[in-house]
Amino acid sequence: MRISRFFMPVLRDAPSEAEIVSHRLMLRAGMIRQSSSGIYSWLPMGLKVLNNISQIVREEQDKAGAVELLMPTIQSADLWRESERYEAYGAEMLRIKDRHGREMLYGPTNEELITTLFRDGAHSYRDVPCTLYHVQWKFRDEIRPRFGVMRGREFLMKDAYSFDLTKEDAKKSFNRMFVAYLRTFERLGLTAIPMQAETGPIGGDLSYEFIILAKTGESEVFCHKDLLDLKAPENVNYDSDLEPVMAPWLEKYAATEDVHDADRFASEVPRDKQISARGIEVGQVFLFGDKYNEPMKCAVQGPDGKLTTLQSGSYGIGVSRLVGAIIEASHDEAGIIWPQSIAPFKIGLLNLKVGDKDTDAACESLYEQLQSMGQTVLYDDSKERAGGKFKTMDLIGLPWQIIAGPRSVKAGKVELKNRASGEATELGLDEVINFFVTKSTDSPSTGTGRKSTES
Ligand code: ATP
Ligand code: MG
Repeated sequence: MRISRFFMPVLRDAPSEAEIVSHRLMLRAGMIRQSSSGIYSWLPMGLKVLNNISQIVREEQDKAGAVELLMPTIQSADLWRESERYEAYGAEMLRIKDRHGREMLYGPTNEELITTLFRDGAHSYRDVPCTLYHVQWKFRDEIRPRFGVMRGREFLMKDAYSFDLTKEDAKKSFNRMFVAYLRTFERLGLTAIPMQAETGPIGGDLSYEFIILAKTGESEVFCHKDLLDLKAPENVNYDSDLEPVMAPWLEKYAATEDVHDADRFASEVPRDKQISARGIEVGQVFLFGDKYNEPMKCAVQGPDGKLTTLQSGSYGIGVSRLVGAIIEASHDEAGIIWPQSIAPFKIGLLNLKVGDKDTDAACESLYEQLQSMGQTVLYDDSKERAGGKFKTMDLIGLPWQIIAGPRSVKAGKVELKNRASGEATELGLDEVINFFVTKSTDSPSTGTGRKSTES
């Protein structure tokens, strides 16, 4: 993509309405614009990241055996009367009337809708286990939308719902989502800790919130320090018993403030390992049994021929919140530092002297070659001064910068800079191409490793 044809309205100064760094950087990098309180347009740069995150979420859901569908954003109020949540949900639900006076609502979540879909489509024990998910916009009329996309009113969520014949099977479906979440957040470059969370009015159920620690987090959390060092499992066999895979996370204390037990914390966790911090909830897994299936009569014929009410769980990931959460976890004074896995482009190519024949030719050639290799490149072919180009590239946080100025190009060289480490190396034009043939990791090691000099 050429910057001259792209739409990326960057802001030099920090917007005054933004209280936290991710919100400031998302506005400054031209990723989002507020349309009304808690409701945002996703500009091209923001949308690329949102899509990359959704992609990773989808891949891990699919690996865990979940199946994607798509439910609408607008639902009928009658559906919510069946589960008796229509009145209970309160002011967070945006209620609408259509032209015939029928009561509708903008979905804040989808338990009711998925339950009717499954009820109407599944009849026998052979139709379970089944876990269905979608990635869809939700609306919750939050009393205090803030921190940009972290607490929006309209936001993108991945929500999955499992259906099983027995409680035991439902726990297995729950475990699959739990492990899929560990893998998803790790691939997003995050350390998200599953913490015991409130299960709501129905007792005996199981729930964990996946939390990343951040000063700007809205909830207070408590956990064992060693949880921060755990690495998500690889090559998971989702058909095997996952309890041993989950054990390292479940053995150590981790709880949100709602269920925190100060005595247990003090006795189970050595003093120097006690973390009490602020956290951002990026996902939640919830086993709730027949809470919706019972009132909504979601049942199938069991192997014994008897009608059996199904057992369910629901599993959410805040896809749009993650964009902000990842920036909270990965930035410096100059701007965003995207993990390679979700970067909007992998490479920023800076032409420091547009109009200089040799520099233009070198950049065009690199741009063409890298793209034909399948690399994503944002080519700064604008007339802006070099200083401004450097600032913009650092702000938008692409993992690699290729810097081409007339002086280096004359010597057949360009500079390759790693955004995360700041390390820069001078390489020949071919060497740069080779580097991206052989390297596809975040590794900052580019060779000689000295700070950028070209300006
Ligand atoms: P919170 O406690 O933050 O209000 P929640 O527990 O009500 O969230 P869930 O129903 O568990 O939210 O939704 C699943 C995920 O959706 C959450 O883990 C969170 O990441 C995300 N999410 C929830 N509300 C919002 C919001 N207003 N803006 C952005 N993301 C949200
Ligand atoms: Mg939650």
